[in-house]
Amino acid sequence: MIIDHLTRSDERTVMKGTRNVNTIDDGNFLALLKAKQKELLSTISNRDEILIEATADEIDSLQQQLSRDIAVRNLDRTSRLLRDIQKALIRIDAKTYGACLTCEEPIPVRRLMVLPWASCCVSCQEAIDSQQAKSDHSSFTMDLCA
Ligand SMILES: [Zn+2]
Repeated sequence: MIIDHLTRSDERTVMKGTRNVNTIDDGNFLALLKAKQKELLSTISNRDEILIEATADEIDSLQQQLSRDIAVRNLDRTSRLLRDIQKALIRIDAKTYGACLTCEEPIPVRRLMVLPWASCCVSCQEAIDSQQAKSDHSSFTMDLCA
C-alpha cells in the first residue's frame, strides 16, 4: 500500500517536472538563493538610511542628487534581482528549477552556480539579449529571464 503510493507520487513528479532536471541538487541552490536574498534585503534596508541622510543634507544638492540617482539605480537593480530570486524559489518549490523557461532544456549547473536565479539557458539568454538590444520595449522579456 505504502510502496504503491510512493511509486505513484514518483511518477507524478517525473510527469510534472521538466526533463533532465533531476541531476540538479535543489537543496544547494535553495541555500544559495536564500543567502543571496537575505544579503540583498539587508542591502535595501541599509540603503534606505543612506537615502534619508542624503535628503537631510541640502548644502551639496548636486552631489546629493547624484548619489540619490545612484542609490535609486542600485535599489532598482537589487529589487529586480530579488524578484528573480523569488521566482527561482518558486520554481524550486514547483520542481521546475534548472530548466530553461524558453526552450525547457536543462540549464547547465555551471551557469546556475554563477547565477542561481537564472531562468534561461545561455543560448536563449543570448537571443533575448540581442532582441533587447534591438528594442527598448523589453520589459516583457526582462521579466521572463534573469
Ligand atoms: Zn533555453
